[in-house]
Amino acid sequence: MKKVYIETMGCQMNKSDSERIVGMLSHFDYEECTNPREADLLIVNTCSIRQLSANKAYSQIGVWGKWKRHRPIKIGFCGCVAQQDREGLMKRFPYLDLVFGTHNIYELPELIKRVEAGEQVCAITEIPYKTDETQYKIERKGNLNAWIPIIEGCNNFCTYCIVPYTRGRERSREMDVIIDEAKKAVAQGFKEITLLGQNVDSYGKDFKDGKTTLANLLRELNKIEGTFRIRFVTSYPTDITDDLIDAVDECDKVCKYFHIPMQSGNSEVLKKMNRRYDREQYKSIVEKIRKRFKHVTITSDFIAGFPGETEEQFQDTLSAIKELQLDYSNTAAYSPRERTVAAKWTDKFLSEEVKYERLERLNEVNKEACIESNKRFVGEVLDVLVEDVKVRDGKRIITSRAGNNKIVHFESETAQIGDFANVKIEKASMWCVKGTQV
Ligand code: SF4
Repeated sequence: MKKVYIETMGCQMNKSDSERIVGMLSHFDYEECTNPREADLLIVNTCSIRQLSANKAYSQIGVWGKWKRHRPIKIGFCGCVAQQDREGLMKRFPYLDLVFGTHNIYELPELIKRVEAGEQVCAITEIPYKTDETQYKIERKGNLNAWIPIIEGCNNFCTYCIVPYTRGRERSREMDVIIDEAKKAVAQGFKEITLLGQNVDSYGKDFKDGKTTLANLLRELNKIEGTFRIRFVTSYPTDITDDLIDAVDECDKVCKYFHIPMQSGNSEVLKKMNRRYDREQYKSIVEKIRKRFKHVTITSDFIAGFPGETEEQFQDTLSAIKELQLDYSNTAAYSPRERTVAAKWTDKFLSEEVKYERLERLNEVNKEACIESNKRFVGEVLDVLVEDVKVRDGKRIITSRAGNNKIVHFESETAQIGDFANVKIEKASMWCVKGTQV
């Protein structure tokens, strides 16, 4: 067996892609290794959401390029930066053996044969490479959570976002294929299925049959026998339909958790971001969800320092987090991405100093929101899945995750990784809650 090492950067979609890449390579006598120095083939699966992530990928292959002087290794570069930089990568890093884009993952078996024959290969297309993907294994990481992509790409073209350019337009996978993948994961013992999509609640729109929807997919997955739970990320606010909320309510295996990026609390900024909602619409979606589910959590994403954002507009973001009682938010300073609309508004760019000062204040408000959210669960009983067990001072300390995504710690003599339990919450701290098993 030859060895492949894959360094994965960025989101869960990339992690899922890496599991598929390793699975495919296993059909060609490659096994995954965890030490890059032992690998015959090294691949970096890249993220281009921020310049920082792209730079990290360039520096990674720079290091591997030096190793090539001493060992006959092959180096591959894939993911969103590959889709964006294309042939330019081969010119910049001539020691690369393989560059393949987000649409070319399933072309990998053919590409690898050419690379092994000594060819330098660059495969980037705008149209996904068509194949019967079910013929290949998926080498899933761990044994708790199985990532299952259900829709790839995005049609929204938010003015700051590179995704529609690197992942292309929305393409939903067939419901049968997804259900089959989920059944296999449950049979293998996975306790959680996470449905992935850059715009997961847009699932099925491209089928135009009215039946292929995220709500109906959840209903079908909920019928699979076994003890497991189902999540889905990431939701676009206005694609959360009443039917989807009904399905989450009806399906006992579906976690009462929504990740709904708001991006800005100011309606004018949202318009410039080309988000298709304003502050009030977002608020009404959040209120609708909160009314329906007792223990629901709603998390979000925000950008600090979007081009032209005034201090008053930024204040609206801070007030939105408080007013909507968002449970947690991922935050980032605006980072211009080549090819996007907002990247051309250079005269409106804010200084790095202003962006990072705003980000700091955003993070402070986010921390306060987080602790307030955790306090709301004191006295409540949450359903948790055990993720880790550590022994400290002779006590077994359990780290678990509730259906609503809260990190819950408790002590137990018996709980094992993969067990489900109910925990009464007694204490709240900033990033987690603590309680007693009941
Ligand atoms: S909806 Fe999300 S993935 Fe699509 S363009 Fe906007 S930010 Fe990017």
